[in-house]
Amino acid sequence: MVDFDNRDLWKYYNFRDFTVNFGKKILLRCSGAKYHAQKNRSLSVTIDIEDWYHIPSVCGSSFSVYNSVEDFFEQWDSKYDYLSRPTKKILDLLDEFNITATFFIVADIAEHYPGLIESIAKRGHEIGCHGAHHTCKLDQRTKKPMMSIEDFETGTIKAKKILEKISGEEVIGYRAPNAMVAGWMLDSLEKIGFKYDSSVSKNSLYNKTDSSLEGVSSIPYHPSAGSLEPALSRNLVEFPWAYYDMGFKIPTTGGPMLRFLGARLILKGLKQSLNRGHTVFYFHPIDISDEKFPDIGKGRPLYWTQKGKIIETRIRYILNNLEGVKIVPLKDMLSDHDGI
Ligand SMILES: [Zn+2]
Repeated sequence: MVDFDNRDLWKYYNFRDFTVNFGKKILLRCSGAKYHAQKNRSLSVTIDIEDWYHIPSVCGSSFSVYNSVEDFFEQWDSKYDYLSRPTKKILDLLDEFNITATFFIVADIAEHYPGLIESIAKRGHEIGCHGAHHTCKLDQRTKKPMMSIEDFETGTIKAKKILEKISGEEVIGYRAPNAMVAGWMLDSLEKIGFKYDSSVSKNSLYNKTDSSLEGVSSIPYHPSAGSLEPALSRNLVEFPWAYYDMGFKIPTTGGPMLRFLGARLILKGLKQSLNRGHTVFYFHPIDISDEKFPDIGKGRPLYWTQKGKIIETRIRYILNNLEGVKIVPLKDMLSDHDGI
């Protein structure tokens, strides 16, 4: 039996922590080696297509005003479309910057916004799936599933088919609504024909997933079966989001952080993440909407304090300052590499 005095014990634990952390870093490097080893820095611009009522305080969560989007449309008799106008603006902005993006779309948009998904596909952008109705699938307190695996698969297959019928292309990418993603969800996604997911945000402020994300960074990797931790190989790829690490990791991929933190910090985080390898930037068209949204939903006034023209200006600032960065849709990151 080894007899440590306190000093030796301290050294032992530090050595053990060092080797464990070093091991995790090597595993992530190997898992995402193809993406890390790229000579040219590359970024994917991703856009989540959902409207103001899709957020959890209005529809589809345990604390929402309406149980579901169907329930919302049964009861709501005022204007609901605050999405079409800013989406058109975003499409023009992407043309201006010559960017082909990946759009993660809530499938029920097809029913309530005739022609909107077609207009995105027609401009040559990749169509990904952002769920059937943007409902939360993971209890954030217990991290337990809020629906059965069968229901998740049935709903997601239906959403995938709707989007494929409209776009005329196979839909291979998924983003979990509200970024609430779990290992079991990735297993289902792989089973029903998805090739990648882009929902994981590694940071020190929150973890919306059911895994510790200890071995995860901002570079793509192959997740383990039943978990979001890196594995050495698997067909499925996870494209995690950007973060800025200053000892404390801040999510800097866009979305709410673009509204709260401002463009400079987001850009800093994107640039730092790009030094690690491929990463992801995202925002919503409704972030740039200059209309006032209907005043319903718990917590909404705080959620929407910053939006409109100021956010469009921030997006432009970020895109203007990414010289030398190759911007590609996520599907191209798969086809660029053999064996995935
Ligand atoms: Zn969303």
